[in-house]
Amino acid sequence: MIAEIIAVGSEMLTPDRQDTNSLHVTRGLNDLGVAVAFKSIIGDNRQHLTDAIRIALGRADIVICSGGLGPTEDDLTRECVAEALGITLHPDPELVVALAKRFAERRQVMPPNNQRQTEVLDGAIVLPNAHGTAPGQWLDTTFGGHRKLVLLLPGPPREIKPLFDDVCMPRLAATLPPRHIARRQLRIALLSESVVDARTSPIYQRFQDVETTILAGRGEIQLHFVCAKPTLEEATARVNELTELVEHEMGDDIFSSHGESLEEIVLLMLGLRDQKLVLAESCTGGLVAERLASVVNASRSFEGGVVVYSAEQKTRLCGVAPELLEKHGSVSEPVARAMAEGICRTTGCTFSVAITGIAGPAVTEGPDSGKPVGLVYLALTDGEDTQVKELRISGDRERVRLWTSQHALELLRRHLQ
Ligand code: ATP
Ligand code: MG
Repeated sequence: MIAEIIAVGSEMLTPDRQDTNSLHVTRGLNDLGVAVAFKSIIGDNRQHLTDAIRIALGRADIVICSGGLGPTEDDLTRECVAEALGITLHPDPELVVALAKRFAERRQVMPPNNQRQTEVLDGAIVLPNAHGTAPGQWLDTTFGGHRKLVLLLPGPPREIKPLFDDVCMPRLAATLPPRHIARRQLRIALLSESVVDARTSPIYQRFQDVETTILAGRGEIQLHFVCAKPTLEEATARVNELTELVEHEMGDDIFSSHGESLEEIVLLMLGLRDQKLVLAESCTGGLVAERLASVVNASRSFEGGVVVYSAEQKTRLCGVAPELLEKHGSVSEPVARAMAEGICRTTGCTFSVAITGIAGPAVTEGPDSGKPVGLVYLALTDGEDTQVKELRISGDRERVRLWTSQHALELLRRHLQ
């Protein structure tokens, strides 16, 4: 069962307006186990719209149009749907009365064009629009020998949303075969999309009934699995089966299998062991702290941190020897190590993570001059053993900072694992 959504309105073909209605409608359809296979945006043009509807009827089981139901000449949806289906429109007597009453109450003369809003497709059910004058329409029909559901819904978001949620969704749920949806999400840090796909596609391709989506961004890959079945048990079993196989393949590379963020996982692991973390951040300027602090109850395991940009503060707050900074520069393995060890010692925490790097632009003077943008050192210590990692991160300042924070949290997670 697949759906197609047609957003009608020339304004959405300009750079100024976007079709957002289809996103709302898609979410609802997905919840009922219906995938949206096609979406189009069509201007207020009779020929284009009729063609688009005809194409949609030829390939989708459910066709949902939004917009173009108003009273003006360029509101063509009703007529084009009738044309495409080869049926006629008739004025709905109740709508005629209601509309006449509406104008009478306001002591206004009804412009003849408003009659258009009372025109209903033969065989359609009128869907009352509580927030506007143009009602929706629901037509259960056949096209080319196949059953088709055709929905006409108003364009203004404040009208379509309640109409779709409160009227169409219950109707669709009652009309469509029962579908229950199960979802799982796996998250992986730092690997590339192509690597993840190469390792997982041989597995997920065997699950034709589970929809797999790979999303990449902000230093992580998310694998989303969605399955629709007549019962929730069946859907859940299928999604879990796929998840387990992928988990087996990706092993420790997966940081979360129920959608938690990397910072949540790190805090969870620290919390379970009753361990405390402190940070010393130079190039990320508190980004790791910010990410951790955004998690509820972070303070149970995250004790605090310092933002130490200048060499002087690296000495003062982390106890880094000035000679070390002179000799190797701030962005160096020995300084990252000394920062981590220093802050861990002073605070008495279980772990510390220190970050120093060149977020960009390049440094032109002092001991760090000539080092490349994106060079970062990460140090993790438990007070006895210290590991330092050298990174080369490409991209602009923001990307270097973000990816560094991701590397820092992932280093800690892998250590805790
Ligand atoms: P009306 O009776 O207001 O004319 P209508 O059903 O004809 O209703 P349109 O004229 O197509 O709707 O659109 C009315 C408003 O809703 C416009 O501001 C338009 O930008 C907005 N709109 C229309 N379609 C969409 C859409 N798909 N996504 C977001 N906004 C939309
Ligand atoms: Mg309109």
